[in-house]
Amino acid sequence: MSSVLKFYNDKALGEIEARNFKVFNDRSLEKIPQLARLSDARRFEMKVVSSVLPFRVNEYVINELIDWDRVPDDPMFQLTFPQRDMLAPESFERMAELHRRGADKTEIAALAHELREELNPHPAGQLDMNRPRMDGEVVEGLQHKYRETVLFFPSQGQTCHSYCTFCFRWAQFVGDKELRIASNQCDQVLGYLRRHPGVTDLLVTGGDPMVMKTRNLAQYLEPLLEDAGLAHVQTIRIGTKALTFWPHRFVTDNDADELLDLFERLVKAGRHVAIMAHYNHWRELETPIAREAIRRLRETGVEIRSQGPLLAHINDDPDVWARLWKTQVQLGIIPYYMFVERDTGARRYFEVPLARAARIYREAMQRVSGLGRTARGPSMSAGPGKVEVQGVAEIQGEKVFVLRFIQARNPEWVQRPFFAKYDEEATWLNHLKPAFGEEKFFFEDEYEAMRAGNG
Ligand SMILES: *Cc1c(COP(=O)(O)O)cnc(C)c1O
Ligand code: SF4
Repeated sequence: MSSVLKFYNDKALGEIEARNFKVFNDRSLEKIPQLARLSDARRFEMKVVSSVLPFRVNEYVINELIDWDRVPDDPMFQLTFPQRDMLAPESFERMAELHRRGADKTEIAALAHELREELNPHPAGQLDMNRPRMDGEVVEGLQHKYRETVLFFPSQGQTCHSYCTFCFRWAQFVGDKELRIASNQCDQVLGYLRRHPGVTDLLVTGGDPMVMKTRNLAQYLEPLLEDAGLAHVQTIRIGTKALTFWPHRFVTDNDADELLDLFERLVKAGRHVAIMAHYNHWRELETPIAREAIRRLRETGVEIRSQGPLLAHINDDPDVWARLWKTQVQLGIIPYYMFVERDTGARRYFEVPLARAARIYREAMQRVSGLGRTARGPSMSAGPGKVEVQGVAEIQGEKVFVLRFIQARNPEWVQRPFFAKYDEEATWLNHLKPAFGEEKFFFEDEYEAMRAGNG
C-alpha cells in the first residue's frame, strides 16, 4: 500500500462514521434538498421518466459523488438521475400528459407497463435461451450461457444501493413480476453446480449481491468450501457497484467485517475470489471511503476487476477512460471490460456508435501503460456471445470492422476474427452486415439452430 494512500485514508477515517442507509425513489424525489436548485420543468421531467424506468439514489451519491454546481452535465448526476431524452419523445409526451391531468396510479402503471415492453426488457435471450434446466425443470435464478461460467441471481440481491440510469437489468427493478429472474433456492443452485463439473466460475450477480446481508451470501458460498462435490467451482466472482454507490458496505456496515472474513476464508481455501466492480468514471474512485473499501477488500486477498459500459453523457471521452484505468491500476484494480451500451432500456440516450467507441477505446489505451491495457472492448454482450470491435481496417479496398468473439455460446467461435462492413452509425451487432459480399456471418446458421432448439 502506498504511503500517500495510507495517509489519505488515516486522515479520512476520522470523518467516516457508520451511517444509516437513506435512499430516495420516484415517490420521494421531491424530498431531495439539492433538487430545489433545478427548474420546475426539469423536476417534472424526472417525475415522468421515473414512472417508467427505475429510479433510486442514496445520500452518499447525492452528497459526495454528484457535483451539484455542474448539474445537469455532471456525469454522476447523469448516471443516477432520470433525463428526459431517456424516453422517446412520443412516449415521454404520453406519460407527461397523464401526470399533468393527475391520472391515478393504475392508469400510470398501465402506460408504464406498455412503454417498458417497447424497450426490449430482456435483451440477448435472457429469459429463454440462458435458463438452465435440471430434471426437465427450469432452475430459477440461474443463467448458463457460456460453458465455464454460471450466473447466479440470489433473490435477496435483486436491487442496488442506487440505480444506474442506463442499467441493462432495469426490468428487474420495476416491480413487473414476470420480468424478473431470481432465486432463493440454495439447494437447487448448488445441485446444478454439482452436476456440472465443467463449470469453473460462479458469478454472483443481481441487481447487486452486495445489498445482501453477509449471512445470506454465506449461505450460498460456504458450501463451496465444505462440499467436495463443488471443488470444481474454483472462481467466485461477485458483480457489484457497491464500491461506487455504498463503499460503506465494506467499511462501516455492521456486518462489513464478517463479509471481509468470508472473502478471506474463501481465498485461504484456495478459491479465486474476484470482485467484478462496475465503474464508469474516475470520479467514483475519489472519495476517502471508496479508497478505504478498496484497500480493505484487497487486504483479504480478493482481486478487484473493473468493467463498465461506454456511455454518451457520462464517459464518451478517451481522457475519462485513461484516467479511470490509470487510477484503477494505482489502486490495485485490474481493468477487465469496456462494454457497449446494450440494446435495451434507455439506450437511445446513452448509445455510442461502434465506430466512435472503437476510437475512444484506442485513444484511451494509447494513454496508459501496459498494466492499464488489460481491459478488452468495446464489447457487445449479444445473443451469440461477447463480440469485441477490435478496430477498423481497409482490406482490398473495403473498409471493415474487425471483430472477434471474446466469449461465445459455442467455445469454438472464440477468438476467430471476422469482418463486417464499416458503418459509421451502427450501434449494435444486428446493425452490422458481413463484409466482402458474404451473406451471413460464420456463426449465424448455428446460432439460429440453437435458438430454434430453445424455442
Ligand atoms: C460476460 C458473461 C460471462 C463471463 O464471461 P467471461 O468472458 O468469462 O468474463 C458469463 N455469463 C454471461 C451471461 C456473461 O454475459
Ligand atoms: S449497479 Fe448494475 S444492476 Fe444495479 S442499476 Fe447499476 S447497472 Fe443496473
